[in-house]
Amino acid sequence: MTGHETLLNYVGGRWEKAVATEATPVHNPATGEVLAEAPLSTATDVGKAVEAASKALQGWRRTPPGDRIQPLFRLKALLDAQFSDIARLVTQECGKTLAESAGELRRGIENVEVATGIPSLMMGSNVEDIASGIDELMIRQPVGVVGVITPFNFPGMIPLWFLPYAVACGNTVVLKPSEKTPMTMARVMRLVEEAGFPPGVVNLVHGGKEAVDALLDHPEVRAISFVGSTPVARYIYSRAAANGKRVQCQGGAKNPVVVLPDADMDMTTRIVADSAFGCAGQRCLASSVVVTVDEAGRSFTPRISDAAAARTVGFGLESGVEMGPVITPDSRQRIESLIAAGVAAGAKPLVDGRNAQVKGYEKGNFLRPTVLADVDPAGELARTEIFGPVLSVMHVQSVEDAIALINGSPYGNMACLFTSSGAAARQFRYETRVGNVGINVGVAAPMAYFPFSGWKDSFFGDLHAQGRDAIDFYTEKKVVVERWPQTWSRKF
Ligand code: NAD
Repeated sequence: MTGHETLLNYVGGRWEKAVATEATPVHNPATGEVLAEAPLSTATDVGKAVEAASKALQGWRRTPPGDRIQPLFRLKALLDAQFSDIARLVTQECGKTLAESAGELRRGIENVEVATGIPSLMMGSNVEDIASGIDELMIRQPVGVVGVITPFNFPGMIPLWFLPYAVACGNTVVLKPSEKTPMTMARVMRLVEEAGFPPGVVNLVHGGKEAVDALLDHPEVRAISFVGSTPVARYIYSRAAANGKRVQCQGGAKNPVVVLPDADMDMTTRIVADSAFGCAGQRCLASSVVVTVDEAGRSFTPRISDAAAARTVGFGLESGVEMGPVITPDSRQRIESLIAAGVAAGAKPLVDGRNAQVKGYEKGNFLRPTVLADVDPAGELARTEIFGPVLSVMHVQSVEDAIALINGSPYGNMACLFTSSGAAARQFRYETRVGNVGINVGVAAPMAYFPFSGWKDSFFGDLHAQGRDAIDFYTEKKVVVERWPQTWSRKF
């Protein structure tokens, strides 16, 4: 590969060429064009970044929290100033529409804003006189060097779920973004540099599995924050935990949406179509299965089929486009094979998005929205995370049946209910075994001041991203019990 920019690592405040000799191309998924190359950094590259982060740690943790957040205020202002350019870059390397890219960036910036509250968020606590003349206090201290490993589908937002809180709490960071969409963070890191963090506080290393394994095994890395697919999340959780690290791993999903007969069908259709086909279904909170209850199937199914067929597919930078391509040709092929297997197993394709062509973008990884009816709840289609614009429709007789179906899934990221009944909504909220619940909402994405939850195979660890969980994850709690007898003679 020649003629394209090879991305640099950002280590100890300097932009450096990786020692790695291998690199992987970064494609625009709508055009097939190669945009850049990401080096596949080696353990040596990661070692240099961890060393820089370790070196920066002592000074940074001694910097008062009120001073540590000043570069975050500057970063927020820089992100706002360059918002449109960064959003365009997200669309170019990730494929989603410009509106979707702007949406993810806004949610990422929200985390920078929340993390500026650290001076009060990371306060400890104390009790005087736990016994006569003895006081006890709990103080929070940074964990140390944090490794952050992120997926391709939100290259702007997901690194910002972690980075602002980690550094505000006094940790230093080595970030490894997805090698499929590394350019957004390469750009954001320029702003991190401009914002004035001391050298080594934030480091960026491009790469794949070798770089990840080096982070998981490095003794100076004390915590790992990960988002990605369930098999990789499980692997990272086991390996990092076995090495004695604190770990949080957000995994994959298979999100069901339940439609009751008393739902507002037009609103429900619009929201479910956005949830299932937005970001071309490449969202951990995409609805992937619709469960219609009783009479709801008759009115909802034709409506969602019409909405799917009407969606405008194309390059996300063009106006009027409502859905972009999927990330790679492999991904497209995998999704088409899953559809084919589902159809062979008896599913009915109401809208079939395979073999899509978009004029002028013949090299893009396009599929059109797909709706499949009569999907076997026990079959592969119903149980596998497809991560594409494919909605499976199932039918049951009662809310209880729908909840049983949800709770039988190995995943527990999100479930949504569409209804005008408060009692059904409460039962759903109460009984579903998932981490994020939507009531008349199709993408129940928590704001930055709530934890981004996830249960069962959608999460490995104890503390989630964002919210108070982030403060607990990025700080060690130290308890101090003090006795200062008043009877001791004073030296002054
Ligand atoms: P992925 O698991 O393939 O990759 C995620 C990260 O892990 C990347 O940085 C990649 O370089 C690294 N990686 C990949 N394979 C590895 C291996 N064998 N060993 C070590 N590291 C490895 O995920 P992806 O395809 O980039 O992203 C999509 C997945 O992420 C979906 O499953 C989606 O549901 C999930 N996701 C989850 C959430 C959530 O909050 N739960 C949010 C976004 C995406």
